[in-house]
Amino acid sequence: MFVVAIAALLLTAQDSSTISHPTPSPQGALVKNRRLDKNQTVARALYDAGLDEVTVTALHGALSAAEFNFKKARPGDQLRFVFRHGQLDVLDYRRSLLTEWQVRRDGDRYVARKREIEREQRIELVDLTVESNVWDAAISAGERPDIAVTLSDVFAWDVDFYRDVQKGDRMRAVVEKVIHKGRTLEYGRVLAAEYMGRSVGTKKSFRYKMPDGTETFFTEDGLSARKTFLKSPLKYATVTSGFGSRFHPVLNYVGNHNGVDYHAPSGTPVWAVSDGTVVRAGWNDGGGNVVCIKHVMSFETCYMHLSKILVKVGQRIAQKTVLAESGNTGKLTTGPHLHFGLKRGGGWVNPLSQNFPRAEPLPKQLMEDFKQQIADAASRLAASRVVLKGN
Ligand SMILES: [Zn+2]
Repeated sequence: MFVVAIAALLLTAQDSSTISHPTPSPQGALVKNRRLDKNQTVARALYDAGLDEVTVTALHGALSAAEFNFKKARPGDQLRFVFRHGQLDVLDYRRSLLTEWQVRRDGDRYVARKREIEREQRIELVDLTVESNVWDAAISAGERPDIAVTLSDVFAWDVDFYRDVQKGDRMRAVVEKVIHKGRTLEYGRVLAAEYMGRSVGTKKSFRYKMPDGTETFFTEDGLSARKTFLKSPLKYATVTSGFGSRFHPVLNYVGNHNGVDYHAPSGTPVWAVSDGTVVRAGWNDGGGNVVCIKHVMSFETCYMHLSKILVKVGQRIAQKTVLAESGNTGKLTTGPHLHFGLKRGGGWVNPLSQNFPRAEPLPKQLMEDFKQQIADAASRLAASRVVLKGN
């Protein structure tokens, strides 16, 4: 309940601008907050805020002169209008957390300037202990809840964040942060991470930049942290209010409907568990919207009852590509869930009992370089272990 309440509050705070009424301020100014809607141009938004053609043209000219690229306007961009004596005085256009334009009236013309919001990048240690769920663990540690999404991506081959996370599990990570006025705006790359879990054991991953520039995760011993298949066909994206009993997979071997059912709310992102080619993407009476992908080693995966398909037959897709949203379509569904099937050599097999191989280990001749590169992050991870909880 508590978590749901916070989520609702945050949503209200973020979305209130689109539905808020103009608020008169003490100085006799009228403020209107808007967000760019889907398919709404900037010009349209300006007209919709009550501006006339002369003003819109003037604003357009001022913004263009300040390197504002109208093609880069996106739904969600924030506009703040300040009117005085019935005339637009100030327009703030915020494109992201870090970039905004301000247009001010100067006599009978408008002048715009771009403002880069001050921020700094830091590498910090994140240390979470799960009491009830990852969301609360992040909040109690003074982090943003989306750190869970960031970490789930690092551990995607070993930990299913929907169903493997248990009370007492601990996550530590050395992470890049973008900070503004002491507040974390967003997380960047994870340099090192450790998961200590009741059901999954201890997993450690270190980011390594290969000589060719690609970056990938290895264990401390140089084994690849990546495997040919991910632990879960559901991408961790939403914040759940408790442990994932709903997401617990149920084996379902009835008739030709073999596979695993993940009871998940419609709209949960479904991702490709391995690289492959889409061999099926469309409607089937029993399975509803179905996507099937052919992988290496004569493996094939199928995802059924989808609400939305995001790929086409013949498309090559990489592991972790979001290919659909889960749903409740087709005759053989009994409620919102993802049916996940795995074939090997043409026959259905149990996906939960497969032991998928790891990707290639680190070449021996790179081991020395690897150790050097991860040394700093590794010692920061190790140091955090001595810090007593509650201190
Ligand atoms: Zn099923």
